[in-house]
Formats: sequence, structure tokens, C-alpha cells
Amino acid sequence: MSWLPPDEEDEGFDAWDESDVRVRPNPKGTKPRTKQRPAHVDAVDARVLSVDRGRYTVLVDEDGDDERTVTATRAKELRKQAIVTGDRVDVVGDASGDEGSLGRIVRIQPRTTLLRRSADDTDAVERVIVANADQLLVVVAAANPEPRPRLVDRYLVAAYDAGIAPLLVITKTDLADPKPFLANFSALDIPVIRSAQGAWPLDELAPLLAGHTTVAVGHSGVGKSTLVNALVPGTDRAVGHVNVVTGRGRHTSSSTVSLRVPTGGWIIDTPGVRSFGLGHVDTANILKSFSDLAAVAEDCPRGCTHLPDAPDCELNEAVADGRLPAARVDSLQRLLTTLVKQPGASLDS
Ligand code: GDP
Ligand code: ZN
Repeated sequence: MSWLPPDEEDEGFDAWDESDVRVRPNPKGTKPRTKQRPAHVDAVDARVLSVDRGRYTVLVDEDGDDERTVTATRAKELRKQAIVTGDRVDVVGDASGDEGSLGRIVRIQPRTTLLRRSADDTDAVERVIVANADQLLVVVAAANPEPRPRLVDRYLVAAYDAGIAPLLVITKTDLADPKPFLANFSALDIPVIRSAQGAWPLDELAPLLAGHTTVAVGHSGVGKSTLVNALVPGTDRAVGHVNVVTGRGRHTSSSTVSLRVPTGGWIIDTPGVRSFGLGHVDTANILKSFSDLAAVAEDCPRGCTHLPDAPDCELNEAVADGRLPAARVDSLQRLLTTLVKQPGASLDS
């Protein structure tokens, strides 16, 4: 399912700049892009905390004297746009947040990042999971369930593709020594935080999260909810303030929700997102996140796959003559291998 006109699908982030949203559809479709927008002078700025069946819970006057959560719908002209947790939006109508009140989202502000997935690896159509996150917290257990390096690779690829910095939390270190597993990632320079039952690494995480919007992902059972609840005490992930405000008393544990970390920053939990199809990912985006390697790869032949068997690949040659560390190039190649299309063998959960 796609909400973008087909000709815009490959435009990446630019396709999501909503500055040209028009109030009325242009019957001829020939009108040039314009910066003119409906004059919603009374619109207020808001952060989307959660999305539930066409209703958006948004935070208005963030950190101000009148900070409040507001329930909103979206304006008709935005019906083809996905509005997701983490979006910054403009809200008109009743933004009082009073019981029974309803605001209306009239604009999605330009996004800094988009975390996306496709249904599976052979599907180029993407779904947006979260907007404006700058960190991806990958939660993996040292045991029970057994850690799977390839699954973590997939999360990392999604992060690098989106231009989001990954962090790795390894839980259940009371059950197994995570060292052998972590060796897979040592050349990637990712911050690694160890967590154990009753010894949640909150002091270590707090400075990494403050000032950031961090999306937490992980396979079911790794202890992600436990960690999020420890980070945001009293939330009881399922019945946090977000849900109280919607006034529906509905269990939202299967929806993506943005939670404020008391020590600073926002954490976005994604309980419904168990798998990452990577059909939309572009090799060039991954390489960009490895600036040291990207510089060398500029001398690769056109269309180089940068895989171990790529003819005349400058990365492989640089390893051979000692200009680049083998482990670093190996790590990149392992991530790129994740993107080699394997019909039917795509989903990871
Ligand atoms: P989620 O599916 O990733 O949200 O996982 P949960 O947070 O629901 O945790 C799954 C199970 O693992 C629960 O029984 C937790 O008590 C347990 N658990 C979480 N963290 C740890 C840990 O560090 N050590 C151990 N031994 N168990 C843990
Ligand atoms: Zn190459």
C-alpha cells in the first residue's frame, strides 16, 4: 500500500516535504510547486506522540507553561500522507486538550529523518515507522531468545539507510556472556550498553538519550518493554499518559508511542514492529554512513557492489594493500549482503 503518487516514490525525503500541500486539488495537475500554503495563522506546533485509527495524540506547547496533550484528526488534504509518531505537525481547531475536544492536523512539518521498512525484501514499497528520530536503540538479548547477528544487521541497515545513529543494548547478560556475539559488531563503532536483570543501565543510557529522539526496536522477548519501563518509570508502557489522555482506556501496547525520558530526550517504543523488510534500501545510503570507506569507494568502478567478489573494487584493494582495516570492510560487506535480494527468504520474524 502506498500513499505516494508513483512518480514520487523514488524521491526519498524530498517527496515528504509538505511545503507544497494545496487546499484544493488542482484539476489539471499542472500547477507548479508553490510555497504558498493555506493561511492557518492560528495553527499551533505539536509533536505526534501516538497514532490510533485515524486519531492522533499530539503534544502542544512542549516544555511551555501550557503543555498539554491534544487529540486530533487530520485535514482532508492530508488524507494521502502518512502521519506517524515523531512527526511535527501544525494543528488548528480545538487544541485546548479539554475532554471531548478535537484538533485538526493541517500540515506535516519537514522531516529530518524517516525510519522505514518494506513488507519484505522484494517489496520496494515502504511504510514509514517513525519520523524525526536521530537514534535507533537496537535491543538484543544475550540469551533467551538466542541473539541473531543477522537480525541485528537488518536493524543496522535500516538505521544507516535512514541516517539514524545506532546504539546497541544487550540485555540478559545475567544469563550469558555477550562477548562472542558482540564481536560481530566491534568494527562498526556502535556504542554498546549491557543490561542485566535488576541492573538496568540507566545511568549509562541517560546521557546517550538526553537531547535525542531514540527509537527502540527489538525482537519479541528480548526485554525491550522492561527496559523502556525502567527508563520511563511509572509509565507502565501500556497505560502511560498518552493513553490516559485519549480517554479511551484502551491498551496501546501494540502501537508505536513516544515517551518522554525523565532525564531528557524521547524514546519511541515500537512494539508492533518485529521485522524489517529492506526492499526500499539503497546501497549508496549505507555507504554514506561509513564516511571513511565512502571516501575510498569513490574510486570504485561505476555500479560497484563493493562485495568481496566485486571486480576492481577499491575497498577490497585497499584492504589488500593495508590502507583499510579488513574488519571494517568486512562489516560493511556483511551489511550490504543483507541487501542482496533473496525472494521468499526475507522476513526475520
Ligand atoms: P519484550 O518482548 O522485548 O518487550 O520483552 P519483555 O520486556 O516483555 O521481557 C521478556 C522477558 O524477559 C520478561 O519475562 C522479562 O522479565 C525478562 N527480562 C527482561 N530483561 C531481562 C534481563 O536482563 N535478564 C533476565 N534474566 N530476564 C530479563
Ligand atoms: Zn567497490
